Amino acid sequence: MARWLVLSDIHANLTALEAVLQAAGTCERVVCLGDLVGYGPDPNEVVDRLRALGAVCIRGNHDRVASGLATAEDFSPAARVAIEWTRRILREDTLAYLRGLPAGPQQLDGVVLVHGAVTDEDLYVYSPWQAAEQIQRSPGLITLFGHTHLQGGFQWRAGRIGLISLPTTAGQPVAEVVFDDAARYLLNPGSVGQPRDGDPRAAFAVLEDGRGVEFWRVAYDIRAVQARMAAAGLPESLILRLSFGR
Ligand code: ZN
Repeated sequence: MARWLVLSDIHANLTALEAVLQAAGTCERVVCLGDLVGYGPDPNEVVDRLRALGAVCIRGNHDRVASGLATAEDFSPAARVAIEWTRRILREDTLAYLRGLPAGPQQLDGVVLVHGAVTDEDLYVYSPWQAAEQIQRSPGLITLFGHTHLQGGFQWRAGRIGLISLPTTAGQPVAEVVFDDAARYLLNPGSVGQPRDGDPRAAFAVLEDGRGVEFWRVAYDIRAVQARMAAAGLPESLILRLSFGR
């Protein structure tokens, strides 16, 4: 089967995206689970790169707000400042692309793609009980999700939910999960552009259809991104958090 590069929550961080593409090597397909823009300094460049790769993308909440399909009323003050900046610098063609992104769930060769959850594109799935419900409601055996910026996921087997725990040691890939034919999976590649699990390295996953999934982390030049954010006048809190992965 094909090797799929699974990305989510890139958040306009081109430097992290380039590091991920280099580390991942050749993949037959690139999928992105939403939040291409917001927070970071490179929204047009990230969208250009994904379009050039022919990536299959669904929308996230930041893409919806950036393209004017929703308001920023639920956003934190820093996120709102960043999305307003994003709106000002988006090119017309980038805006049209973001506005045209489909909502999840979408199916691709039987794999289900969602931003937040199967039942609600904006729902954050953190807990095992939420994951159990989402897996049972998913039309596919493998569901890919993002939105929480936390790498890992859940396995459902014989009526029990299990957490996929990843080792915290450095190295690539971080972890490999070989699929059990009797199980269903809800998998989160983590965030490329703004990880929140305490590891500042860019997160992504490689799905080998029918076989398993690899969870990866890759270092990138965080300072270069922070310098561009500062030059753009983006909020200090968003700049600082990249250093900590929080
Ligand atoms: Zn996000």
